[in-house]
Amino acid sequence: MQEVFHYWGGEWRRPEAAFAEAVIDPARGEKVGSLAGATAGEVNSAVEAAQAAYREWRRAAVTERVQPLFRLKAILERDLEALARTITLECGKTLAESRGEMRRAIENVETACGIPMLIQSGFNENIAPGMDEFSIRQPLGVAAMLCPFNFPGMIPFWFLPYAVAVGSSVVLKPSERVPLTMQMLMQGMQEAGLPAGVVNIVNGGREVSEMLIDHPLVRSVSFVGSSAAARAVYARAAAQGKRVQCQGGAKNPIVILPDAELETSTAVIADSAFGCAGQRCLAASVAVMVGEAKREFGEALREAAATRKTGNGFEDVQMGPVISEGSRERIERLVGEMESAGARVSVDGRRPGLGAGYFVRPTVVEKLPEESPLLRTEIFGPVLTLVEKPTIEAALEFVNSGAYGNMACLFTRSGEAARRFRSEAEVGNVGINVGVAAPMSFFPFSGARESFFGDLHGQGMDAVRFFTNEKVVVERWPREWSRKF
Ligand code: NAD
Repeated sequence: MQEVFHYWGGEWRRPEAAFAEAVIDPARGEKVGSLAGATAGEVNSAVEAAQAAYREWRRAAVTERVQPLFRLKAILERDLEALARTITLECGKTLAESRGEMRRAIENVETACGIPMLIQSGFNENIAPGMDEFSIRQPLGVAAMLCPFNFPGMIPFWFLPYAVAVGSSVVLKPSERVPLTMQMLMQGMQEAGLPAGVVNIVNGGREVSEMLIDHPLVRSVSFVGSSAAARAVYARAAAQGKRVQCQGGAKNPIVILPDAELETSTAVIADSAFGCAGQRCLAASVAVMVGEAKREFGEALREAAATRKTGNGFEDVQMGPVISEGSRERIERLVGEMESAGARVSVDGRRPGLGAGYFVRPTVVEKLPEESPLLRTEIFGPVLTLVEKPTIEAALEFVNSGAYGNMACLFTRSGEAARRFRSEAEVGNVGINVGVAAPMSFFPFSGARESFFGDLHGQGMDAVRFFTNEKVVVERWPREWSRKF
């Protein structure tokens, strides 16, 4: 049982409020920690500590700013197993998935270590006689980061290492459902020697997010979560003139052409749909089988779902629980509604009888009427809906018809079809014979339509640009004004 503390100004802070909220191990339904939402005073102290640190940190040499990040990389490698175990404990995913998640976090630290080059900007000599023009990337100031439950180790690192590397400071709020991982990560950042106040943590839910967004010293807001919250955060921050990037929800289609290779593709698609219990923003949720693809793939995907081993993520399983009893109820309700709308539940994972944890086994839904809004509703659980389309044109129309635009994938042996798909799919991330098209840290983690509000994404150069202001300088040094040497 761990009590979750806030952290600012280089010190752990016991919350003022009582530890009223529980952190639950979703595989056992048991309490493993307790949390108290930060008060307005605590949020203010954290932001002020960040602002004080920023004033100094922005002046530190760029080569000096990356040293704690190099040390952090080594610490995260050393502690990877313990961090992965914490993720599995509070989030439920399998240990292998948690290790993979931390690997992605570390890659972002590595990329941010390249900031001495990434932060360079342009210089034009002689824009006119005796005149030059150049730009300087300068840190924006205090950055607020609001994170979701499904990747407690990775998602903060889409933003945090870049903000730190450019010379900004951070106040981060982990999801109230999975705050333990960030406690451990913060210990690592402390050990890495980040100066006091450069990274700060406040805990709590929506109210704490809003206090951070509204704080006058907070200059930017990075948010990842559901689309409704992403839209609300975007509107609230933008109305106050803040820089904001909000990643939202998803309903990702996977298109399978009749010429797709069967065995590997099935494994990859099943992993996308059911990995992390379907609680990935890049999870496949609709498999669009084109023409004859339905013959082999329908059967293969049903088989993959029915045989996937579900259980406690610490054991030898392929899929863990969903995050909460509320989530389980929501997923089972939505499957029931699909049935009522005329769908057939060909693999039924509801109420699997796996003990007190929040388990739903892989579920496959077919023949859901095209007009049902449920075909385009995010479920965020291990539910794959099978859809049949006659042509790639009809499949692309389907891909572009929903509100979300996080990811779309195509499985085929045809380069021509792949080229067309990647060009015409109106989504942020495209996979070709890949089921989870998660961008590496040196590419932006993209997203489009209801899946992303803003301009610049997390990761890579987008993150560097997001956390900096580009200042342009025009200089004149006429020869005739200077002493002759
Ligand atoms: P959520 O929206 O419930 O919460 C996300 C974070 O925002 C939490 O820290 C929460 O405390 C806070 N929050 C909730 N409502 C808020 C509001 N109205 N204003 C301000 N803050 C608010 O999301 P979740 O359940 O933690 O995460 C799952 C969702 O996140 C899914 O919809 C998933 O698709 C999405 N997601 C998207 C991406 C992406 O890159 N697009 C990545 C991961 C998760």
